[in-house]
Amino acid sequence: MPRGQAGLLSYGALNHANDSQLKNNPNPGPDALKVIPRAAHNVSRNEISDGALKVLYRLHKAGYKSFLVGGGVRDAILDLHPKDFDIATDATPDEVRSLFSNCRLIGRRFRLAHVRFGREVIEVATFRAAANHADDDIAHDTEGRILRDNVYGTIDEDVWRRDFTCNALYYNIADFSIWDYTNGFEDVKNKRLVLIGDPVQRLREDPVRMLRAVRFAGKLGFTIDDSVVEAMRGHTNLLSNVPAARLFDEFLKLFQAGYAEPTFELLREHKLFGELFPATEFELSRDERYMGFTRAALRNSDERVAEGKSVTPMFLLGVFLWLPIKKLAAITRVEEKMSESQALSLAAYEIVSQQQRRISIPKRFTVPMREMLALQPRFDNRRGKRGMNLLDHKRFRAAYDFMLLRSEVGEVPGEIAKFWTDVQSQSPEERAVSFQLHANPGKQGSARRRRRRKPSREA
Ligand code: ATP
Ligand code: MG
Repeated sequence: MPRGQAGLLSYGALNHANDSQLKNNPNPGPDALKVIPRAAHNVSRNEISDGALKVLYRLHKAGYKSFLVGGGVRDAILDLHPKDFDIATDATPDEVRSLFSNCRLIGRRFRLAHVRFGREVIEVATFRAAANHADDDIAHDTEGRILRDNVYGTIDEDVWRRDFTCNALYYNIADFSIWDYTNGFEDVKNKRLVLIGDPVQRLREDPVRMLRAVRFAGKLGFTIDDSVVEAMRGHTNLLSNVPAARLFDEFLKLFQAGYAEPTFELLREHKLFGELFPATEFELSRDERYMGFTRAALRNSDERVAEGKSVTPMFLLGVFLWLPIKKLAAITRVEEKMSESQALSLAAYEIVSQQQRRISIPKRFTVPMREMLALQPRFDNRRGKRGMNLLDHKRFRAAYDFMLLRSEVGEVPGEIAKFWTDVQSQSPEERAVSFQLHANPGKQGSARRRRRRKPSREA
């Protein structure tokens, strides 16, 4: 064990001793169980989707143990109307499949059953043994990260491999009680994120748990327990061992759920943002205006989610990478004598390649992002056919929204932003005047304006 870690370990253990003795022991077994009867909690079947109820009941009727677990139970206790349901059972994946025709088995690391009802997918997982279970089928890397743990177990083993106590509550369809082994019910009520077991060991096993802590804190307004904060402090760099594809999935969950702004602040506070976006963090820490730009974009994105509008990850990726790309483009341009757009496109290619080492971003997002950024200089051109053609570009809408953000922080003059807002709602005749197509510069900007459309962003 590297130096310094022993201290962290004992700090975590000390903190936990005050909370609950259970958490010190990675696997206290069935004795730790507290059953909370239906009368003592607020989780109602009305909060569980029809699909999830069907799966719960069918497993139960076939004689298997059948529990709702994870975010569904946690969010129902918080009256947050859960939308995502995970089920835990002692039926093996093959047994689950034989009960449901609409079922598919997925996953390499974990074998899971997905039962589909229209657009809803219910995830059914067989109880698994704890990560520290002495078994050959649990593989770790040199940092302690779990690579594979496909050992089936009982519910009182399953509970210890879950991440936070608030995510380890099991709602039993047999009598509607909640099974709580880790004091999770109290922690949900007190809005606390507490890792099950030793925090350092649990973060080493799976460093993504640091991002999950921040995600739940951002979304639910929970406080991350001091023991977890302390354990994260020395271990943020473990994220560099996590496969880049998994980090992209996590990036989407962090920034598309409608809590991007508070989540971003927490990621920075806990020194995790720089692990995900090193070039961005480098610039953010030196540039107040860029910070304002980033915050405005995140706020805007959250507002769109709240209004039920679509958000595309390419927009936020463009926001995060904008300053590194702009700076590199400025250097490239001087050296190679190319147009501003070409230089931006080339720089975007380079910065995205560097970023891919951390988070693998699919091409379907990087290509439109480069296009959106490379269009930025074209907003300066407000004359002639070429100027007007920008309105018909397939990335105009996103590029325009991006330009508005730049103008919010003074990177684009207000009159340019106003011009492009106005021309969108003008008639062809008015536009011709605005773009000076008829050599009539005196009239520029004075055309009568029709109803303005509210700017919106599309994928
Ligand atoms: P939400 O669905 O709101 O994102 P969730 O808690 O349901 O939150 P999922 O990713 O759906 O999160 O996972 C379901 C459950 O599986 C979690 O509640 C937790 O018990 C367990 N789990 C998920 N990811 C991990 C992990 N990395 N380490 C340990 N347990 C995990
Ligand atoms: Mg879930």
